[in-house]
Amino acid sequence: MINLILFGKPGAGKGTQAEFLKSKYQLFHISTGDLFRHHISNKTELGILAKSYLEEGDLVPDQVTIDMLKDAVENNTEAKGFIFDGFPRTTKQAEVLDAFLIEKSMQITATLALEADDDILVERLINRGITSERKDDQDEEKIRNRFEEYNNKTAPLRSFYDAQGKFYSVDGIGSIDGITQRLTALIDGLL
Ligand code: AMP
Repeated sequence: MINLILFGKPGAGKGTQAEFLKSKYQLFHISTGDLFRHHISNKTELGILAKSYLEEGDLVPDQVTIDMLKDAVENNTEAKGFIFDGFPRTTKQAEVLDAFLIEKSMQITATLALEADDDILVERLINRGITSERKDDQDEEKIRNRFEEYNNKTAPLRSFYDAQGKFYSVDGIGSIDGITQRLTALIDGLL
């Protein structure tokens, strides 16, 4: 079983690359951002709770996010493995994920970090906001807040996974295809 975490700041290309990796390795893709957006558009109780956090670019509280993630894994136990995209984003989430996977005789294979400079990321997000209608992509202040959240709460996970020998940095600048090739070369080397 391969279980990958796609790691990186907003706009690093996690969702885009997950699309290629999920078909190549037959993995089930879980994007917590997509799940929240789905709940928000369906106006579920969870969506109503999460809406203001997403709009401001703040992280949704851990327990809510963790419960949603666990459900997504439990509902797809037939999968050959998972791509976690946008999760974990806090040390608490990472600790709970490890414990949860151990219970299921699973583990993280690798955390793949897509690296790019902030200026490039802001430009990508603003461009995405033009077509995606994502409000959190349309306002530079909210984008900067998402980076702040990343720097304060998510960046420490680099050393969390590095300590487990599972952290890999990948250059996230270049063509989509070129970045996919970097990722697949790395993953193939781990199998
Ligand atoms: P994304 O689509 O991954 O950029 O996520 C969009 C937004 O969803 C984030 O800015 C957060 O508000 C929320 N979100 C997604 N994943 C998480 C997570 N693991 N923990 C907390 N909030 C999250």
